[in-house]
Amino acid sequence: MSTIALDIVTPERTVYSRSVEMVIARGAEGDLGILPGHMPLVTTLPIGLVHIKEEGRWSLVAISGGFLEVRPDRVTILAEAAELPAEIDVSRAQRAKERAERRLAEKGRADIDYVRAELALKRALNRLKAVEESKGAMR
Ligand code: ATP
Repeated sequence: MSTIALDIVTPERTVYSRSVEMVIARGAEGDLGILPGHMPLVTTLPIGLVHIKEEGRWSLVAISGGFLEVRPDRVTILAEAAELPAEIDVSRAQRAKERAERRLAEKGRADIDYVRAELALKRALNRLKAVEESKGAMR
């Protein structure tokens, strides 16, 4: 089985660096299924999940937005933050979700940055989804 090198890097650390069989990510213009030899491209990545097939098994990483670069032998994801499901603190994500929801519910307040709260909510929901999906995959 041919493979492609995948690196997922944040300003803090390398989250993933392995040879994989396939990467599925949501790019700016729709879903991308990346196999070895894929044509080169660069795209932004919204907050979402990246699915990875390695040695026949699927796993996933939660990405808090960034960039994806594909070269024929290498995929690089530069993310603002990224976590494997096992690294996600569910109660922290739950608290972040509730905090963001409270802020969004207070309409029309000049001191609330609604865009920031919306993004915080998306990150929190994405982390919770990552944990849920990874549990499903293990069943
Ligand atoms: P919070 O409000 O809980 O800090 P956030 O979405 O604002 O959440 P980020 O700014 O995206 O957090 O991330 C800051 C750092 O904390 C990153 O290294 C990220 O991987 C980590 N992180 C954030 N939330 C979690 C979580 N629920 N579990 C594990 N690591 C997390």
